[in-house]
Amino acid sequence: LFGYVGIEAVLDQMRIKTMKTGFEFNIMVVGQSGLGKSTMVNTLFKSKVSRKPTGPGYEERIPQTMQLQSVTHVIVEKGVKMKLTVTDTPGFGDQINNENCWDPIVKYIKEQYEKYLREEILISRKRKIPDTRVHSCVYFVPPTGHWLRPLDLEFMRRLSKIVNVVPVIAKADTLTLEERAEFKQRIQEDLKAHGINVYPQEDLDDDSDDRLLNKKIRDKIPFAVVGADTEHQVNGKRVLGRRTKWGIIEVENPAHCEFPLLRDLLIRSHLQDLKDVTHNVHYESYRVQRLNESNQ
Ligand code: GDP
Ligand code: MG
Repeated sequence: LFGYVGIEAVLDQMRIKTMKTGFEFNIMVVGQSGLGKSTMVNTLFKSKVSRKPTGPGYEERIPQTMQLQSVTHVIVEKGVKMKLTVTDTPGFGDQINNENCWDPIVKYIKEQYEKYLREEILISRKRKIPDTRVHSCVYFVPPTGHWLRPLDLEFMRRLSKIVNVVPVIAKADTLTLEERAEFKQRIQEDLKAHGINVYPQEDLDDDSDDRLLNKKIRDKIPFAVVGADTEHQVNGKRVLGRRTKWGIIEVENPAHCEFPLLRDLLIRSHLQDLKDVTHNVHYESYRVQRLNESNQ
C-alpha cells in the first residue's frame, strides 16, 4: 500500500504553503560604536540578496525606538515573500564603566521571546505568531589584531547563552592578510579557552554531514568583513565598495573580504538552521525557565 508515497506532492504543498505565508528572518548587529555596524546593515540590504526587488513589495519601517532601530525589507523572490529585519544597536562599551552595558541588548532579545511566549500560551492562539525573535546576532570585534578584550569575551559569553552569535572582525581592510589570519586564529583559541559557543555550535551538529559542513565554517569564523554603502564603477560594472587611494575594496568580492561568507551563512546556507536553533534551543530554554518560574 505504501510502496510509493509520492513525496513530490508533499514537497509541492510545503512550497505552496511557504509561498503563501512567507517567512521572517531577524538579524541584530552588536558592537562598540564606530565599528561599521550601521554600514553593515546597509551593505546587507544593498548587496545581491536584496538588490533586485525594489518597487512593489518593498517596504521600510520607521525606526522603533531611539535606542534600537529595526529596518525591515520585504523581499519577494520566485513568488516567496521573505521579511528580513535587521536591528541596529547603539554602540556600547564607550563608557569608562562598562559594567552591565550588555543589559539593553539582553533585555531586547528576551523581550522578543516573551512576546512570542505570550502569543503561544493564549487559548485561541494565532495560526501564525509574528516572529520578532533574533535569529542571529552579529558581534563586531574591533580589528586590533591582538586578542579579544575582556569586554568582548564577557559580552559574547552572555549572548551565546541566549542567541546565535556570529562574530565578525570589523573593518578588516585595516588589517593585512597575515594579520587577519593570525587574529582569526587567536580569536578562535580565545573563544575555546573561555568555553564560549558561538554559532554553529559543535554540540548541535545533527550528523556527520553537518559536522563536515559546519567544521568548514568554524574554521573560518570570525569572518573578516568590510562594509560599504556606496556603489562604484569597476570594469563597467557597478559594485559595492570603499574607494581608497589604492583602489576600490569590493565588499562582495571574495578575494577582497569575507562579507560574502557572512551573507551566505545568514541568508542562504544557514537561514533555516538559524531559525530552528533559535526556536528549539534558545527560545525553548527561555520558555522552560519562564514556565518553571510561574509554577512556583
Ligand atoms: P557604527 O557606529 O558601528 O554603526 O559604525 P558606522 O557604520 O557608523 O561606521 C563608522 C565609520 O566607519 C564610518 O565613517 C564608516 O564609513 C566607516 N566604516 C564602516 N565600515 C567600514 C569598513 O569595513 N572599513 C573601514 N575602513 N571603514 C568602515
Ligand atoms: Mg551605528
